[in-house]
Amino acid sequence: ISRFWSPITTLANFYNSLLTAISYLERIFETIDEPVAVKDAPGAVEMPPIIGKVTFDHVSFSYEEGIKTLDDVSFTAMPGESFAIVGPTGAGKTTIVNLLSRFYNIGSGTVYIDDTDISKVTLHSLRTQMGVMMQDSFIFSGTIMDNIRYGNRTATDDEVILAAKTVCAHDFIMQMEDGYYTQVNERGSRLSAGQRQLISFARALLADPKILILDEATSSIDTETEIILQKGLNELLKGRTSFIIAHRLSTIQNCTRILYVDKGKIQESGSHEELLLNKGPYYNLFMSQYSFMKDKAVQ
Ligand code: ADP
Repeated sequence: ISRFWSPITTLANFYNSLLTAISYLERIFETIDEPVAVKDAPGAVEMPPIIGKVTFDHVSFSYEEGIKTLDDVSFTAMPGESFAIVGPTGAGKTTIVNLLSRFYNIGSGTVYIDDTDISKVTLHSLRTQMGVMMQDSFIFSGTIMDNIRYGNRTATDDEVILAAKTVCAHDFIMQMEDGYYTQVNERGSRLSAGQRQLISFARALLADPKILILDEATSSIDTETEIILQKGLNELLKGRTSFIIAHRLSTIQNCTRILYVDKGKIQESGSHEELLLNKGPYYNLFMSQYSFMKDKAVQ
């Protein structure tokens, strides 16, 4: 599913392009033969300004009747907390973040943001307050300046540059021949995966959502880039509640809480240290996938 989501949810990132995103979303869904079920409920109200608490209260969800994709998922994230969502492919990680953006209506249970049941608010007022960054960062034809300003069209050049500096994107941008005025194209072919992500971080910082959803790219990057991305990400996460479908150990370790999801259930949750002590599924994942990387990073 993330294959289908990537271009759309990156478009859906930021409020300036919301309407385009919704119509694009509908088109994509037609092509995969899946109706867009979500509409504003009758009498839907505006989502109040988000503070950042997120609660899943006994949430279950099925894409197809009889197959429970999420089964009684409950957790609370306090404002400013960062959650890493980890677990095997097909576990339900993307589904959790999709329900938070209300791309689907849930089967049973309730998702609250602050104390508001999100099924009762307008999609527009909800999504304009959330930042969603899916795997491949969306780059359009134009300058790097324009690409970052996409997060907030009213931002001045100075504000764009400040955002880029904050998330550690400034240095690589200044090394390009025309700096912030360097032209890039849709496929971002002149940019590495890490550089595209740094641009999307700067963009998200300008958009300044209280809730941030990030599906971390799986493409491999060198250790130096990983350190820069981690520093940039830490700045971006400050003051927002974030949910990261995380693949990198450096990201996972820096999150305040890890949700280990498998078969549509939260099997374990806690900090990295707590879960290692538990010697449960997270520990096994860590031992099988990350201990090698960790040794490498420590050297
Ligand atoms: P993860 O992000 O952990 O890899 P997903 O949340 O994408 O997992 O998927 C969970 C399960 O739901 C998988 O079995 C997947 O095949 C199924 N699924 C995801 N999206 C759809 C969809 N649009 N229609 C039907 N099944 C889906």
